Amino acid sequence: MPVRGALIHLSRTWRRMLRNHDYDPLVTETLGHAAAATGLIAQSLKFDGAITLQIQGSGILRMLVMQCTSELDLRGMASAKPGKAAKEFAGLIEKGHCAVTVDAGERPYQGIVDIDRNSLAASLEQYFLRSVQLPCHMALVANEDVASGILLQQVPGQAIDDDDWNRLHLLAGTLSLRDFDGEAGIHLIGNLFAEDDVRVYSHRAVNFRCRCSRRKTENVLKMLGEREARETLAEQGRIEIICEYCGRRRIFDAVDVERLFVDNVVRGPDSVQ
Ligand SMILES: [Zn+2]
Repeated sequence: MPVRGALIHLSRTWRRMLRNHDYDPLVTETLGHAAAATGLIAQSLKFDGAITLQIQGSGILRMLVMQCTSELDLRGMASAKPGKAAKEFAGLIEKGHCAVTVDAGERPYQGIVDIDRNSLAASLEQYFLRSVQLPCHMALVANEDVASGILLQQVPGQAIDDDDWNRLHLLAGTLSLRDFDGEAGIHLIGNLFAEDDVRVYSHRAVNFRCRCSRRKTENVLKMLGEREARETLAEQGRIEIICEYCGRRRIFDAVDVERLFVDNVVRGPDSVQ
């Protein structure tokens, strides 16, 4: 059948992403779905770049962002209204949209779809259909230990029998967390698609990697402005900035702040060569 696919299985990378965060179970699950989905989309990139998936909603989940490079470096975080929990996906997002940005350097491309009330996977199937014009099936599963999923895409320009395509949809839809209890990978593919002839390519590693740095944090402080920085310093004795992705803390004391804004001093033409 003219179908291409990928299976993603995140465990250590996923648990690292959750460290320093305290998400409720449904936010954790949705973030895990986003991590698996973004990795699945990124692995198909044929150029150096990155995929960014962003969700903005009016429900408990205000914002979610997940980014994966073509090297499969993954990072992401979510922001939810404190003290509230939803029972199901529809209540978590309510009304919202999902944006997928494909960044290949010069010309970023963005596709936006409304969030399907059923699931993130259903929303992304719509994205593939409308923005990429490529029918796909996506199944995603996640808890606090595992974030995984399957992506099946029709090969462009090649017809596939409707019954075959529907059968693959049903098979992919059986994916569950239990599939990742034991050996996943090639065994899982063999079990899921037992009747089909599947050619499997070698696997690639997905790593948690945050691209934050002290220099980037300094730039954020500069953008915040000298007045704000000095006020915070006066109140708290130091400025602490925590990266929302990796949880890394960076401390700026009076000397750091002084050095940061010293460039803002206007100098006269006091040196002549
Ligand atoms: Zn970071």
